[in-house]
Amino acid sequence: MWKHSSGKKKQVVTYMYNIFAVSLPLPFSLKQITAYVVEVGDKLTIIDTGLHTKQTSDTWQRFFHEKGWQWKQVEKIIVTHYHPDHYGFAGKLQEWSGASVYISKREYDQIQAFWNPTSGNPSEVATFFASYGFPSDRLHEITEHMEGFRAVIEPHPSVLKWLDEDERLAIGGESYQVIHTPGHSPGHLSFLHSSGTFFGGDVVLPSVTPNIPLMPYSDPNPLATFLSTLDKIKSLDIEMVYPAHGDVFYSVEQRIKEIKDHHGRRLEKIKAMVQGNSAQTGFQICEQLFSNRKLDIHNLRFAFSETLAHLEYLRLRGEIKRQFHEHGYQYFV
Ligand SMILES: [Zn+2]
Repeated sequence: MWKHSSGKKKQVVTYMYNIFAVSLPLPFSLKQITAYVVEVGDKLTIIDTGLHTKQTSDTWQRFFHEKGWQWKQVEKIIVTHYHPDHYGFAGKLQEWSGASVYISKREYDQIQAFWNPTSGNPSEVATFFASYGFPSDRLHEITEHMEGFRAVIEPHPSVLKWLDEDERLAIGGESYQVIHTPGHSPGHLSFLHSSGTFFGGDVVLPSVTPNIPLMPYSDPNPLATFLSTLDKIKSLDIEMVYPAHGDVFYSVEQRIKEIKDHHGRRLEKIKAMVQGNSAQTGFQICEQLFSNRKLDIHNLRFAFSETLAHLEYLRLRGEIKRQFHEHGYQYFV
């Protein structure tokens, strides 16, 4: 099934003729998510699903129509992590196909915490942000923004199967290693085939650095976790990354270096801001860091939660300190 071309040093996978990328539109600045369909015989596996919007629904329908596929051919729907653009259309795809949805238990717990129709509480993000100095007169925007995701992730799938680190999973009739790649989200999973084909989800992206957020229910030090994940990925034999945003790429080591350099520069900048000032809240530091950009609420959430991840990374390394203040934790040296 694998199409190879022989290089001098080792076999290089040029492309997989049975893996199809589906670019699904997103109504925010990331613009699109790339889902994949792997075809073997008359069976199909889907990896990541899009938001539940009419555009997503139309795109999936059109794609299946063009390929001449039936929904009942889908035997697995794999979700790399709980974020709405990956998980949001899983329930609908399950309704159409009857296929099971595969996800890590950790991400399922995140879904329950945020999006469970009866007990989930997306507005907890606003409370959490307030404790780091997010302005009280704008908290309602965060609440509305987070609550707004409910509409684009329902219906929830009813049949779920847990995936664990290091188990083997058949995708398109081939055995893949399930790899826990946390940092961007706590239970994020990626999938590696012995040929070097790597379904990476959001862990390494070709043209943007994945958002590393400090969020409620999240890892207390997501940036440290993410940097370890990058080291783990570097140690794997990866030829070709199938990312969840953007196009397939080969140079994973180079991309890991660029992403690490980005975080290194950001950490230095934040440290200098903390050192050169009196105690400031996480929000004040975020404002300085992004002072040249007008951010909508979606991007402000990304910018703020990522600033907090960097601040907590520095604090947990003992490089800066944090104190309680009525307007939110303040950082100082
Ligand atoms: Zn994501």
